[in-house]
Amino acid sequence: MRAITIHDTRSGALLPLQPRDPGRVSIYACGPTVYGRIHVGNARPFVVFSLFKRFLQHEGYEVTFVANVTDVNDKIYDAARAAGIPSEQLATEMTAHYVDDTDGLGLGRPDHEPLARATIAEIVALIALLIERGHAYAVDGDVYFDVRSYPQYGELSHRDVDQMDQGEGVSGAALKRDPLDFALWKAWKEGEDTSWDAPWGRGRPGWHIECSAMAEALLGVGFDVHGGGSDLVFPHHENEAAQTCAAHGEPLARLWMHNGMVRLDGEKMAKSVGNIFLLHEALATHGRDALIAYFAAGHYRQPISYSGERLEEAERSVQRIRELGRRLDPTAPSPAELTPLRDGFFAALADDFNTPRAFAAVFDWVRGANRLIESGTAVGGEQLREMLQVLALDNLLDAADGAAGPDEAARELLARREAARAARDFAAADALRDELAALGWTVRDGAAGPELVPR
Ligand SMILES: [Zn+2]
Repeated sequence: MRAITIHDTRSGALLPLQPRDPGRVSIYACGPTVYGRIHVGNARPFVVFSLFKRFLQHEGYEVTFVANVTDVNDKIYDAARAAGIPSEQLATEMTAHYVDDTDGLGLGRPDHEPLARATIAEIVALIALLIERGHAYAVDGDVYFDVRSYPQYGELSHRDVDQMDQGEGVSGAALKRDPLDFALWKAWKEGEDTSWDAPWGRGRPGWHIECSAMAEALLGVGFDVHGGGSDLVFPHHENEAAQTCAAHGEPLARLWMHNGMVRLDGEKMAKSVGNIFLLHEALATHGRDALIAYFAAGHYRQPISYSGERLEEAERSVQRIRELGRRLDPTAPSPAELTPLRDGFFAALADDFNTPRAFAAVFDWVRGANRLIESGTAVGGEQLREMLQVLALDNLLDAADGAAGPDEAARELLARREAARAARDFAAADALRDELAALGWTVRDGAAGPELVPR
């Protein structure tokens, strides 16, 4: 197996991927909080970790990919109240939308998509263990994690304990022993329509403990890769890491892999900022192929801006691959001289999952193949398909196979255009070219003769 390195947030270093169980990689990535339709920014971790899984599978690993759904959360209570519907109903509806919207990406589903609501027993057990070990305390029906009881706190986000703010505002401030402590369980309050019984009183879990419990329930402690957006490093992931390690004396995950934000006009795309493009709208506008190409063109760790220019570029990339797809010869092998580009593609992905470098290798391959075809060499697409499969764009080649190419009428127009050109009747040839354009075909004149390429 190829050596794979990943940038690990905790150590700040590129670390080799060394799975807990040889040959098997387990990934947990934080999914959305379902209080509205997801936007393009929410879709990025889904795309990044789905593609990462495909790469690992290509490398021969068995992969278990878990992406949770946060369906119990303050934001859901607030949104449900504003909409005048029960919070469970809102969460259920938005979870269904999330599944539909991400289905539109054509990346398949994660192996498990746990719901917080369905993990309450595990969450309560984990909180009980933290209380028993002296890392948490119950007060007036709330339970808080005692941050000062866990000296490694801050190691993931590299923050100084005294400069942290849990972002819980005034909620529970009077009950906390230390402002740094954060909620594991929140006592039921007037107006909240969802709650569960627990030894310390009726209430509901805090967000961070939900993920610790869901990840542990499905992957065990010490799984391979914990992922999510870089905006989750603190406090969400810092708290997940602290809870699990404090409870079990063992780190939650071996590697922490964070994707950068999607930005719009220089700002993080976020519902709270109000600068969002919804995923299902982006899919309807640009199509899933261009959207996947758009994401793959950016390094997962870097912010990526959502702009018309970037999307058009992605659409052009997709078009170039489709066009080459139609020129490939299914009976021919991929030329040996292009093999280093294919190898470069996989080497780039093994180096901290560098999809832009990998994508560049795809286009070098496309250029090389076009050049060979122009010079009359038949080119097979096996290598291209292998690369595109990992990027979930191999369908671009199927479209070329399946679309059956130009029909009889188009082929006849092309033949008449050739005859007109041979007779040097360029006005007639141009008119025939326009007729072909009206049918959706562009004539490309190459060394191997003219061919029809969809417009
Ligand atoms: Zn999470």
